[in-house]
Amino acid sequence: SDKTPEQPKRVLLAAPRGYCAGVDRAVIAVEKALDLHGAPVYVRKEIVHNKYVVETLSDRGAIFVDETDDVPEGKLVVFSAHGVSPAVVAAAKARNLQTIDATCPLVTKVHKEAVRFADDDYDILLIGHAGHEEVEGTAGEAPAHIQIVNSPDEVAGVTVRDPDKVVWISQTTLSVDETMETVRRLRERFPTLQDPPSDDICYATQNRQVAVKKFAPDCDLVIVVGSKNSSNSVRLVEVALHAGARASYLIDYAKEIDEAWLDGVRTVGVTSGASVPEILVQDVLAYLADRGYGTVEEVRTATEDLMFSLPQELRADLKKAG
Ligand code: SF4
Repeated sequence: SDKTPEQPKRVLLAAPRGYCAGVDRAVIAVEKALDLHGAPVYVRKEIVHNKYVVETLSDRGAIFVDETDDVPEGKLVVFSAHGVSPAVVAAAKARNLQTIDATCPLVTKVHKEAVRFADDDYDILLIGHAGHEEVEGTAGEAPAHIQIVNSPDEVAGVTVRDPDKVVWISQTTLSVDETMETVRRLRERFPTLQDPPSDDICYATQNRQVAVKKFAPDCDLVIVVGSKNSSNSVRLVEVALHAGARASYLIDYAKEIDEAWLDGVRTVGVTSGASVPEILVQDVLAYLADRGYGTVEEVRTATEDLMFSLPQELRADLKKAG
């Protein structure tokens, strides 16, 4: 036959991938709260946007609720990594709830920026996805000053009080490239638009996108492990496709892989979102190895060593418990 000989199959494995410092801290916060106080421990919203994490913590006695109204008076509730608005903190106080705030410090940083610019009476354009918990929390810091801009296409419809007193801030888990496009269009309309004092898109989001961009052009298929409601995971699929991967899919578990995705595929890229435990990636690698993709090459574009200390309420309790 005149067919070219088949190239060996291989996996390119992104690094960094998976857990970021904020997710690690939030998950440990719930585990420590369970150790210290026993089940049940209430958690407002999903502690992080990952099915496996939520199921595992539920098995240990965490009860996930939508609002603090669903927590019995006086009980303990953990606020998720995505942060909460002041109204939620007030509602918890009104019910005498004990609280542990597992908001990622990098989200808290954006909240503080919002408060500062609102105090200075700026119009604040929050680039992010309306309805996402993080955006609700940040917007709730200064509802009268903040409007949400979902995408570059929404820029044309933005109206402000004073075009010379406008600042943009953002959700932490956006596509870097799309956000820069939104900012470019905003600046066309508001030339003196101010930038946030530092990057709001967090280091973990940026690093995971850089790694995927690097290997995507070499991939016939990119598998992203992550949940459908995980913003940074969904972005990784978009970034992979944009950077040249022929196909890309988001899955929670290896069992969701469709064998047909592998038809004619030589190189599979694998990565995972910031809320994804490594065990789920290892399951995917095992699935692929069983189908001839046993050669794994790591593609590393950064090294991460950031760690956050546990929420202060928990540190105090841990100290008391000795
Ligand atoms: Fe914090 Fe970024 Fe992780 Fe979100 S993705 S928890 S902002 S480090």
